[in-house]
Amino acid sequence: MTTIFEKIIAGEIPCDKVFENERILAFNDIAPQAPVHVLIIPKKPIENIAAASPEDQAVLGEILLIAKEIAKKHNLESFRLITNTGRQSGQEVFHLHFHLLGGRRLGSLG
Ligand code: 5GP
Repeated sequence: MTTIFEKIIAGEIPCDKVFENERILAFNDIAPQAPVHVLIIPKKPIENIAAASPEDQAVLGEILLIAKEIAKKHNLESFRLITNTGRQSGQEVFHLHFHLLGGRRLGSLG
């Protein structure tokens, strides 16, 4: 099933873009939970981490390094990187994405 993130990647739905290369797109979350709330996604439609395969290893590593760079651009000393996996975790969009959150004190997880 096509997700909203695939439509964003295709340019069919606009986004507030933060970073893009051939493999990865990052954009501001439409409903930010913190002063900085960026979504970092692979362009390849992987449902979530549970659906990732060894061939995705490079892009997964690249996402982490891009997250670090985006955090640096925002001068974030502390930040959180989350990827919800499955409905019970709160995943609503079934296209792998990492939430980069920062700019305020973040509560405990759970
Ligand atoms: P999830 O709950 O799946 O981990 O996170 C999905 C995230 O996508 C939510 O934080 C939600 O606000 C964000 N989101 C959903 N639709 C859109 C959209 O059309 N544009 C943007 N920028 N973010 C979206």
